[in-house]
Amino acid sequence: MIQLPVSYGPSSHAIHAGEGSDDVARAHVAPIYQTSAFGFASAEEGRRQFAGEAKGYIYSRWHNPTIEVVERKVAALEAMDLRTRSGDGEPVSVAGMAFSSGMAAISSVLYALLRPGDVVITHGGLYGGTTELFQTLLPQMGVDVRWVPMQSAEQLDADIRGLAAAGASGGRPGLVYIETPTNPALDLRDIAMVAEVAHAHGLKLVADNTFATPILQQPLALGVDFVVHSTTKYLNGHGTIIGGMVVSPHGEFISGDLWHHRKLRGGNASPFDAWILNQGLKTLALRMERHCSNALAVARWLEARHEISAVRYPGLESDPYHGLARKQMKGFGGMIAFELQGGLQAGAALMDAVRLCSLAVSLGTVDTLISHPASMTHSMVPAEERIKHGITDGLVRLSVGLEDVDDILDDLDRALKRSGA
Ligand code: PLP
Repeated sequence: MIQLPVSYGPSSHAIHAGEGSDDVARAHVAPIYQTSAFGFASAEEGRRQFAGEAKGYIYSRWHNPTIEVVERKVAALEAMDLRTRSGDGEPVSVAGMAFSSGMAAISSVLYALLRPGDVVITHGGLYGGTTELFQTLLPQMGVDVRWVPMQSAEQLDADIRGLAAAGASGGRPGLVYIETPTNPALDLRDIAMVAEVAHAHGLKLVADNTFATPILQQPLALGVDFVVHSTTKYLNGHGTIIGGMVVSPHGEFISGDLWHHRKLRGGNASPFDAWILNQGLKTLALRMERHCSNALAVARWLEARHEISAVRYPGLESDPYHGLARKQMKGFGGMIAFELQGGLQAGAALMDAVRLCSLAVSLGTVDTLISHPASMTHSMVPAEERIKHGITDGLVRLSVGLEDVDDILDDLDRALKRSGA
């Protein structure tokens, strides 16, 4: 495997990290090992591999060379700032483990870390699937999930002390879970602040870095223990796979407990999806540059429209998290949330009026995706319930793609006028 110098930038890591297999044909592009099982040269070699006395591949639910390429690549990307900070002298070891979806990655790391009686401390406004996991399955296994604001160190410290005093965890340690920026409201949490408070209480910190990607945000260098991703989104970038990844400097946990969970609960990625993911990853840094510049232009344009009462984009000076975004992000990302004056009806009409923007859930793809949660994904959720979670009647989520920005603006302009928003 190629060892990249610490000084290399994000594009060089995205293109080269993790590549270079011991493939006999010396393939220039990491090949797909599209196989469920691998052969043994002899019964004795098989025995030695099962006994852990010899390294080799046995079965793709356990290990697969194509999957290992993307695990190494995403780990290298998430480790960039950690490595720069420690310099060439001190080796920094960061490991990745790929899963069949973002939810498989999130649930696997949580199931591997938690035991009945543990408490998870998190904040509101998380991605819907994660919220549902926290509201349904984790309580079923006896994990107590508590939502706190996490807006300041003093408050978070007091909230954790309060939970401990109330015996919430029965004296057992748990963990803190954050998502920043959040989906769909684009709220941020101060990663370094949360890490410091969590660690002071002996709690591990898990962070969902899906919206920012390792190009724009490096949570491990800010103190996070486990980064989780839906690789379905920007890391793949083309909307062609469902996938997930966990990355951590706790290498023994990744190759031990977490691997055990993947092996026995079967949330492994497929070699084909890993190969597709690897093609997407190579252009990640380049794509993020364009996502950021297009999104900033669209957010500024939306802010000036009379049909729109509020625009949430961390890159806008008017955004409540702009200062924090400048502190912990290297770019503001490609996601925008905005509120239509005309509410529910205007939202549904806008969805029917766009032509270039694709009317679809998901995000982080080369094309611009638009969705109106109140009339689409959350239409079956009672209004009071969805509004409580920030899904207001006129909320529109825009995943700004890589098209020519004037074409995106023309489409939105025409659709806003036609829909009578
Ligand atoms: N985390 C975030 C922030 C997401 O937006 C999503 C999906 O939209 C997930 C996790 C879950 O990922 P997946 O759909 O790949 O399971």
